[in-house]
Amino acid sequence: MKLHAFRLPLSVFIFISVFLSAIQVNLPHPMLIAERFIKGGGWLEIIVIATYGAVVAYKMQNPVNVPYWRKVTWTLFSIVFFGQLILGLLGFEKFLMTGKFHLPIPMMILGGPVYRGQLSVMTILFLSTIVLTGPAWCSQFCYFGAMDNLASGSKPKKEKLPNRLAIKTTGILLVIAVTILLRWFNVPVLIATIIAAGFGIGGVIIMVLFSRKQGKMIHCLLYCPIGTLVNVLKPANPFRLYIDNNCTFCMKCTSNCKYDALNQDDIRKKKPDTTCTLCGDCLAGCHHNAIKYKYFSLKPETARRLYLFLTISIHAIFLALARI
Ligand code: SF4
Ligand code: SF4
Ligand code: SF4
Repeated sequence: MKLHAFRLPLSVFIFISVFLSAIQVNLPHPMLIAERFIKGGGWLEIIVIATYGAVVAYKMQNPVNVPYWRKVTWTLFSIVFFGQLILGLLGFEKFLMTGKFHLPIPMMILGGPVYRGQLSVMTILFLSTIVLTGPAWCSQFCYFGAMDNLASGSKPKKEKLPNRLAIKTTGILLVIAVTILLRWFNVPVLIATIIAAGFGIGGVIIMVLFSRKQGKMIHCLLYCPIGTLVNVLKPANPFRLYIDNNCTFCMKCTSNCKYDALNQDDIRKKKPDTTCTLCGDCLAGCHHNAIKYKYFSLKPETARRLYLFLTISIHAIFLALARI
């Protein structure tokens, strides 16, 4: 076993440990769930979460392992998040962060601030991940998108989705317009919440009916306004993916992308489409090592490791802290 294979896992372990320790020491109210049940339990949780991050980093270093480990870890995050929410709603208050209930659907990241006229913690958190990791919110950090990832299975259809841009643009504009109207007419919070909940349920129906059939994340690609926002804002972060000159145009990688970002045209243009989330699944499909990460002038493999370091660390920290 080469020693350098442990560099990334070790860095992830140290970063998560330091970050969560700072939270454990500095915040008066226990943020780590174990600390709420046993005094000092937070320290044990930090070791468990940091070890989890290190194992995921170790496994995901190999691009072939990325699709499996991304699916498993993203699903786990969603189960832990919604599991804590259900326990909290059943009366186990320790599983809630603030206890201030808000609908756990991504649309609220945009709709909440437009309706209330002020930024929410969730929106600030979301924007911070864009700055740090570009589109990774939609490949690893969103508790809702994990369901669409599961629903879409593993065999995406090769044809590009028709009218994608028009549907996405109309969708986000409609969400903003409806939310402004709700605010304008002082529609009570309860009614606004019921409308938002209906939007969330509509999203789940789309996952069941369309994502499964297309093998692509139709909910995230066409319905969710936050996915569109991510597509627009992600260039603020310098990480990119490109296809190198050694590409043979075999098109094998197209069947690895559930984000409709790697169709024949994209491969000819040598870069994925705007819906790419830098998830890295396609690297496993290319036997020529032609798909590469870019971050300023870093070597592609170093850029990929840096991306893994950031995304896995943030994912593990969210796993420890994200709850309502
Ligand atoms: S598109 Fe929406 S539901 Fe899908 S991962 Fe992004 S924020 Fe979550
Ligand atoms: S092009 Fe590759 S990295 Fe981008 S979304 Fe598709 S599979 Fe993920
Ligand atoms: S699998 Fe690799 S070589 Fe084949 S088209 Fe995709 S990037 Fe090019």
